[in-house]
Amino acid sequence: MQNPIILPKEHQMVDLLLKHLHAKQAHCGFKSLIYELRKCFWIVGVRKMAKQVTSKCVTCKKLRRKPMG
Ligand SMILES: [Zn+2]
Repeated sequence: MQNPIILPKEHQMVDLLLKHLHAKQAHCGFKSLIYELRKCFWIVGVRKMAKQVTSKCVTCKKLRRKPMG
C-alpha cells in the first residue's frame, strides 16, 4: 500500500464512501468492501462501519431475500 489517505471514522465522507464503494462492487460483503477500501484509504475502525453499511443496505436485503415458495 502506498500512501493511503487516512480518514477518521467520524468523517461524514466515510459513510458515503462506503456506500458508494459497496454499490460499485455489486453489493459485496463487508470483507470485500474493506479490501477494496484499503487499496486507497485507511480508516480507523472501518470494520464496524463496513458491517453497518452492508447490514443496513436495502438493496442487499432485496438481493439476499430468498423467494418464498
Ligand atoms: Zn448493498
